[in-house]
Amino acid sequence: MLLSFKTALIPNNKQQTSFKKACGVARHAYNWANAHIKEVLELRACDKSIKIPSAIDLHKKLIETVKSVNDWYYETNKNVPQKALADLRQAWDRCFKKVSKQPRFKKKGQRDSFYLEAGTKAKPMIKNDGKRVKLPSIGWVKLAEPLPVTAIHNCVISRQANRWFIAIKYEIEKPSVESDRPIVGVDIGIKELAVTSNGKVFKNPKAYKRMNKRMKRLQRSVSRKVKGSKNRAKAVKKLGKIHATVSNIRKDAIHKLTHYLAKNHSEIKIEDLSIKAFLKNHKLAGAIADCGIYEFKRQLEYKTEKFSSKLTLVDRMFPSSQICSNCGQHRHKMPLKNRVYICPDCGHTEDRDLNASKNLERWFDGIYIPKCSDLVSQCGLGVSLSRATGEPEGR
Ligand SMILES: [Zn+2]
Repeated sequence: MLLSFKTALIPNNKQQTSFKKACGVARHAYNWANAHIKEVLELRACDKSIKIPSAIDLHKKLIETVKSVNDWYYETNKNVPQKALADLRQAWDRCFKKVSKQPRFKKKGQRDSFYLEAGTKAKPMIKNDGKRVKLPSIGWVKLAEPLPVTAIHNCVISRQANRWFIAIKYEIEKPSVESDRPIVGVDIGIKELAVTSNGKVFKNPKAYKRMNKRMKRLQRSVSRKVKGSKNRAKAVKKLGKIHATVSNIRKDAIHKLTHYLAKNHSEIKIEDLSIKAFLKNHKLAGAIADCGIYEFKRQLEYKTEKFSSKLTLVDRMFPSSQICSNCGQHRHKMPLKNRVYICPDCGHTEDRDLNASKNLERWFDGIYIPKCSDLVSQCGLGVSLSRATGEPEGR
């Protein structure tokens, strides 16, 4: 299976210049094609017979009209503009399907990146010797951390806060796993990062909150400074650095969680993480809330594939936090401040998130869902679990 791996690069000055040139070509091709498609769409408003150019059409036109007059295009690998055009065309497809807005023009210094392909297996253009990676028309570039020596299919080189990164797609064999692994339900936390039905609690990283506060303060300081001033540039650089740190802390926490889930369980049941539904119904705290949902789902998807486990998305309408996980016969509303679930039927008392994760674990399509009782909507309000069960606090 193909896996991806991202790490920092340590390019020399000449290589950095080549990287910047390649980013420039990618951006130029993308923006040129974007403008071209916009023109075509305007013409189409009067004449529906005009065809919207495909990625291949765009590439042909680029060679004819753009590359021929801009020599500097030939200083970079031909994959670079080609992939930029394919990406743009995909962005327009998403726009036509009304999944996203019209693609915007790229600005220099914002998400600079470019793509390279290894080509044929017999004569690969990208190689690695564990410590360095060889890129077409750039040469051997040092890696910040060692990489297993494998066949590389393609890579994306990107810039983040003045550092260069490489994301590599490479082939691996699936690791062996234990034969009888349990099923697990996961509740994405309101207070914690996640709670699993076997009682494991993944806390939100503490450093995250602290850095997040600092980031917000810096953001304000940037917006107060005069546009184009040196002080503003300095503050932007600082902000970029802290952005990278925060995103690393977040990614690290999510990586640990998804690795644990995929490696140790045969099936992982989790609420269907649609962004819109989540923002509506949940007040998520911490790492997964701040745009980590895509990343969390992406990681779970490829890691369950890697460890041959199954990922089950539970119907969004399933009221996992409202049902009693012990008797399954009772259900009442649970406002977010209710931290403890108390069942008036069987007396079951449990932490809210743990109760929800247990319900997720036993979910199947067509499961019995009891009617919501309104008698006990205040149940558990303001009660901490230790008080409810009579155990001493502060354990
Ligand atoms: Zn019950």
